[in-house]
Amino acid sequence: MKIDELRNLQPQVFERFESILAQNKLNHAYLFTGNFASFDMAQTIAKSRFCQDKKGVWPCGECRACRLIAEEDFSDVIVVRPQNQIIKTERVRELLKNFSQSGVEGNEQVFIICEAEKMHINAANSLLKVIEEPQSEVYIFLLTSDENLILPTIKSRTQVFHFPKNESDLSSMLENAGMLKDQASLLAAFSQTLEEAESLQSSQFFFDLVGLSQRFVELCLSRNDMAFLQVAKLTSLLDDKKKQDQAFRILEILFYQQIQTALGRTCLDGLFHARKMWQANVSFQNALEYMVLQSIERG
Ligand SMILES: [Zn+2]
Repeated sequence: MKIDELRNLQPQVFERFESILAQNKLNHAYLFTGNFASFDMAQTIAKSRFCQDKKGVWPCGECRACRLIAEEDFSDVIVVRPQNQIIKTERVRELLKNFSQSGVEGNEQVFIICEAEKMHINAANSLLKVIEEPQSEVYIFLLTSDENLILPTIKSRTQVFHFPKNESDLSSMLENAGMLKDQASLLAAFSQTLEEAESLQSSQFFFDLVGLSQRFVELCLSRNDMAFLQVAKLTSLLDDKKKQDQAFRILEILFYQQIQTALGRTCLDGLFHARKMWQANVSFQNALEYMVLQSIERG
């Protein structure tokens, strides 16, 4: 993809990276969510580390390094994709070992991990451990279409960039359409598409669910046993898997807002595991009760 095309597709992300690169302040780990040119962005940044003929901070796209990176044939820029729906720990460990401490072309190495939600937790930890070493020149881009599937503890160690939509623009748009600021920003965070936001903004069910979820989060964060009762109330509103999925997504947004507190983080991780249980066919009620038990009573 040409630099100008990338700029047009993701103007805000583009500008931020332009400034990050100009100040030489690239972080070691990014999570790119959404599939709207996120791979192109990661690859372009990777090129900018190795390009021999940069235009400002951006790569030329034509030199040997740029071409090899585009062909995924450059030894210090590794693109990892799932095989049979999984990125195995052994594969990542092997790559890290072969990469060793210094790159072939220079001192820097870049990993681009596609469908990072399919990476085994141990693989993710092995990767993230590398960047925590003081001399590390390793840069990692984790790409996912759904950040809800990335473990919160992994997410918290990366800088997250969104690619599918502009949340603040969406939020302002919903506010302009008459929604309260808090509701607009929650719906903007929740919606994966513009169409979803538009259909939910007048949904009584959705805002009933938000209300019950907010109360549930309050109860959890004050370690109140009434949280169990609130699980029952939530469950009674959710008569199918789609609605239950919406509840999980709302709860994740709400708990994520509390990530600066230890209990908030515990609840968020607990919620993640509850969702996994639910995906493995444990009932919504049992999964959430288990989360409350683990997070509140013992957490
Ligand atoms: Zn180049």
